Amino acid sequence: MLLKFHGGAQEVGMSCVEIIGKGKRRILLDCGLHPNTGEIPKINDKEIDEVIVSHAHLDHCGAIPFFKFKKIYCTYPTADLMYITWKDTLNLTKSFKEEDIQKAMEVIEPLNYYEEKVLDENIKFKLYNAGHILGSLSIYLEIEGKKIFYTGDINEVSTKTMKGADTDIDEIDILIIESTYGSPLDIKPSRKELEKQLIDEIAETIENGGKVLIPVFAVGRAQEILLIINNYMRTGILKEVPIYTDGSLIHATSIYLSYSEWLNPKIRNMLETGINPFGEIKKADDSVFNNEPCIIISTSGMLQGGPILKYLKLLKNPKNKLILTGYQAEGTLGRELEEGANEITPFKNTIPIRGKVIKIEFSAHSDYNSLVRYLKKLPTPKKAIVMHGERYQAHSFAMTIWKNLKIPTYVPVRNTILPI
Ligand SMILES: [Zn+2]
Ligand SMILES: [Zn+2]
Repeated sequence: MLLKFHGGAQEVGMSCVEIIGKGKRRILLDCGLHPNTGEIPKINDKEIDEVIVSHAHLDHCGAIPFFKFKKIYCTYPTADLMYITWKDTLNLTKSFKEEDIQKAMEVIEPLNYYEEKVLDENIKFKLYNAGHILGSLSIYLEIEGKKIFYTGDINEVSTKTMKGADTDIDEIDILIIESTYGSPLDIKPSRKELEKQLIDEIAETIENGGKVLIPVFAVGRAQEILLIINNYMRTGILKEVPIYTDGSLIHATSIYLSYSEWLNPKIRNMLETGINPFGEIKKADDSVFNNEPCIIISTSGMLQGGPILKYLKLLKNPKNKLILTGYQAEGTLGRELEEGANEITPFKNTIPIRGKVIKIEFSAHSDYNSLVRYLKKLPTPKKAIVMHGERYQAHSFAMTIWKNLKIPTYVPVRNTILPI
């Protein structure tokens, strides 16, 4: 049996692993697009029997509309969320057509966690909660006597929206694990500290009569932020001001609400007592430009397009503030602002930046300590393969695995073919 790594190899982006069985069956685990370069995996879709998608982020499902697959497996929420990811990509890049999205939707077979799916007498798989975003999964695949566990993107720690990743798994021969924060230097502040920072920064601006702009990723980050802000307003710690939203996060939040049984049980409890954890979703209108303090939450998270761009002119006013909530890739407007740009030109006119710009990173990934805990909770595999991390992170984490488990560990480069 062979594993071929098409992407996500010493990089965060374009995750895609092909499993080629002795019986010539070919299964693809994820089929992502590279968010920085727009690259897609070099695969022959006619040869692929099925794709299993770990979650609805661009770097895991974004390349699917570029191909014609026979069958796509994912969870129920991922099926709905992928539609948003693909629509956003279509609007931004026009690199495929609406019909391509429809064709992909037609071949999706959604599954539940822990449901066993038998493909033939030699291949079956089961999906586990990965704790990363709504519907995110890890795959336990038994193929021709080998037991492969592909983690996908994981968060071992519970967040406001998600329960932490499952680790109660049967024995594993080959572990394919992500390493976004795989270096011992990647220790992140606790969720509690991050929440406090966020609320303090918002409170400061509101008290000064300013407005807070929060760019977010539509799926996952937006809902975490909405939940935190609404929680603090409900308990009276944060003064109530209007929260306006814009972009595809509005649709994504409605999907989060309709799959509440897939979320952190605390959310279900709130819904049962009549509380909407995400608050009332108010679409932004011209009143965001009046003189009243407010909070504006909008896509896109790295300010590469999306309705957030039209609110950036508010940053001319030193009273207003921009809070970046996630990683800002090189070459994005978000990165420019993070690095202290004095002016930006999102459209025709240049905007001087007089308001404060800060970053409070709410990651949906395990940090280094959490990855190590996760590794120790899983049954010890016979071999490990480290993916989905920049070069330094992937190699550091491979060292960590070797030190802790003393098992052969590989860090593939793109297009590596590994016999297993
Ligand atoms: Zn992800
Ligand atoms: Zn990812």
